[in-house]
Amino acid sequence: MAPKRDRRRQAPPTTPSPVPMATAPDQPSTGPESPEVAYKPSDLLIKETLDKGKGVFTTTHIAPGTCIIAEQPIVAFPANNEDQIAPILQRCSEEDKRKFLSFGYVKVNASLDPFRRIVKTNCLPMASRGQVGLFETICRVNHDCRPNALYCWDEALGKEVLHALVDIPAGEEISVNYYSILDGPARRAVLQSKFGFTCKCSCCSLPPSELGKSDKREAQLSRIIDTVAILIRTNPVSAIAQIRQAIVIIEREKDYGRLTAQFADAFQICAAWRDLPNAKVWATRAAEASRRCYGDGEDAASLRAFAEDPTTHRLWGALGTRKLSS
Ligand SMILES: [Zn+2]
Repeated sequence: MAPKRDRRRQAPPTTPSPVPMATAPDQPSTGPESPEVAYKPSDLLIKETLDKGKGVFTTTHIAPGTCIIAEQPIVAFPANNEDQIAPILQRCSEEDKRKFLSFGYVKVNASLDPFRRIVKTNCLPMASRGQVGLFETICRVNHDCRPNALYCWDEALGKEVLHALVDIPAGEEISVNYYSILDGPARRAVLQSKFGFTCKCSCCSLPPSELGKSDKREAQLSRIIDTVAILIRTNPVSAIAQIRQAIVIIEREKDYGRLTAQFADAFQICAAWRDLPNAKVWATRAAEASRRCYGDGEDAASLRAFAEDPTTHRLWGALGTRKLSS
């Protein structure tokens, strides 16, 4: 069983909204430009892990940006009406009931009935629909603080999609970060309290001194994100410098799914300060990152359009004129 409850999504970028930084061409998240490669869901293997219950593994190499799988839910429930769980399950086919019951649940919430606990442990939000869904494969993907993939609900497709953030070698387990927006100590605490497990990923398994450094970097990242929001109006040069520092930390911590928001925010700042060349650079990075993390949908297309003509952004020139940087 993969313990997953109330998982937060990767926070979508503040604007349309992830990945590589032109100034860091050798970062592993981006690698050389590679075409989207069709990946066969049949190359995924669900099997028992050593200590995390079931997990999802790939039997072939996956390139960054690849859509690993797009799934419709086995069953969906209202996000805020648990009383509907049992009636909805009663209307399911015997096959879907069997699939639902094949999922485990964590030991917390012992007062709840098993159906509710399965939903709380495994279901994922289907954003705009106000529902949560149980996805046969994606809901088996385990947590890693340095994940190799990212999932999100694609409203246009009506499916949950899972994209590779980095090169994933054949035989490796697919992982996502359940709580990317939390820093290290907060994330480990939530994983323990809500999912009942101690993360043993490559980050959380670092020697104490190294883990402490990682935690400090993540804390710094949180502070930077808060600071940028303040500096946008008063000191945009410093805001862009802070975003560049945030990108360095994200790359160091290997949580590449967080890059899109940084690129998109930098684009917005440049747009708001009427900096055409740098707005184009940041929008181009944001568009490519969005495509890799979320697929080539509306967000990526919107960002490409802004990269072509930043003056069409609603904030264009809203704060004045200033030469910034990329
Ligand atoms: Zn971890």
